[in-house]
Amino acid sequence: MSEQNHKVITRFAPSPTGVLHVGGVRTALFSWLYARKHNGEFVLRIEDTDTERSTALFEQDIIDGLAWLGLTYDHFYRQSERAPEHRAHLERMLAEGSVYEAEDNKDGTGKVIRFKNTNETITFADVVRGDITFDTTELGDFVIARDIDHPLYHFAVVADDYDMGITHVIRGEDGISNTPRQILIGRAMGAPRPVYAHIPLILAPDKSKLSKRHGAVSATAYRDAGYLPEALINFLALLGWNPGDEREIFTRDELIRDFSLDRIQKSGAVFSTEKLNWVNKEHSKRLPPEIAAEEVVRHFPDRDSTIVKAITPLVLERISVWSDIDTLCEAGEFTYFFTEPQIEAEKLSWKDASREDTMRHIDKLIEMLQEADYTHPDTIKASVWDYAEAEGRGAVLWPFRYALSGKEKSVDPFTIAHIIGRDQTLARLHVARSACDI
Ligand code: GLU
Repeated sequence: MSEQNHKVITRFAPSPTGVLHVGGVRTALFSWLYARKHNGEFVLRIEDTDTERSTALFEQDIIDGLAWLGLTYDHFYRQSERAPEHRAHLERMLAEGSVYEAEDNKDGTGKVIRFKNTNETITFADVVRGDITFDTTELGDFVIARDIDHPLYHFAVVADDYDMGITHVIRGEDGISNTPRQILIGRAMGAPRPVYAHIPLILAPDKSKLSKRHGAVSATAYRDAGYLPEALINFLALLGWNPGDEREIFTRDELIRDFSLDRIQKSGAVFSTEKLNWVNKEHSKRLPPEIAAEEVVRHFPDRDSTIVKAITPLVLERISVWSDIDTLCEAGEFTYFFTEPQIEAEKLSWKDASREDTMRHIDKLIEMLQEADYTHPDTIKASVWDYAEAEGRGAVLWPFRYALSGKEKSVDPFTIAHIIGRDQTLARLHVARSACDI
């Protein structure tokens, strides 16, 4: 089938027997990217005919995960609601003789519907893996339905793909072994054969199949941990696909523009949380500042939002995902921007500087910072720099920074002073000065 004459229609067909894990997201993503690239359509089909294992909760998790990731679909179906269409196909095929009713030789109690196998060798050109050939003789006359109202899995998939006009079946490589049966059924049904692209497995760093024991793997868990949807999509796009050059950071539109099935690799793709975190950090840095500030503000619910906005770039430097903010806050990493720190007199002096010298430096700092221009960290720096150079940077700037932060490691004092302002800067230096003077 040529792409010129047919609108591309792809589908993601998850069974709602579990949450939407990253492997599912990647399958959905590749199908979605391909449809969007070709101005086609993307179908979400919930394959919920296994009523014992399918739940509404899992279906909702899949829908929520795709919505969060912005993987929008043009059509939504539940396989269980398509019983009339499945029945119509079965009736027609029974009448035509390509399928037939037979004794169920498993328990001999009832009848099943079997496919009349033509026993031939089937070859299909998988876009990722090249020609794949199967001898279908060994499948025998396989069962396709328990009865006219209960088609089995392969039949339902093929009937749905046909009715929905699916042109490209993009799915995990575990679908390869299903393909010969589905091709046989589709041909007997009169369906055009879709293009198949079986994408490689996602592997854990130890090269085993990625599973729950390797950490959070559901889309909604990543959402709740504070990852950016653009970042997860960017990261997953590169698991099994590459742009043919060194680029690693892509917007959604760039992925749509550059995605192609022929750059999907055959070998398994290794999942790395470290890489995901890096991609997420890169995307956070590229967020419009007001959007980033809004998100950061949400993590400081009880704090002065003017200060929160001012420290947003510092926060972004220190995190990979939003939830890292909470961890850093719990560790008191940003507290000194909002409240005066507790300081310990013995920590005020630089290395072996004497207490008298430290007092003298603080007095001078107070004097200089009284007059300083607070519009930018650099203007504050300019007002104390010559003195610090003359007296020794450590001896002057260490007590300055410690007085403002109460921490042995923190942001530089010019930035802190700029953010907390003149009054707070002077107040904290006075507290430090009296702590020294005992
Ligand atoms: N429903 C199948 C699954 O969740 C996928 C069907 C298909 O993509 O052909 O494994």
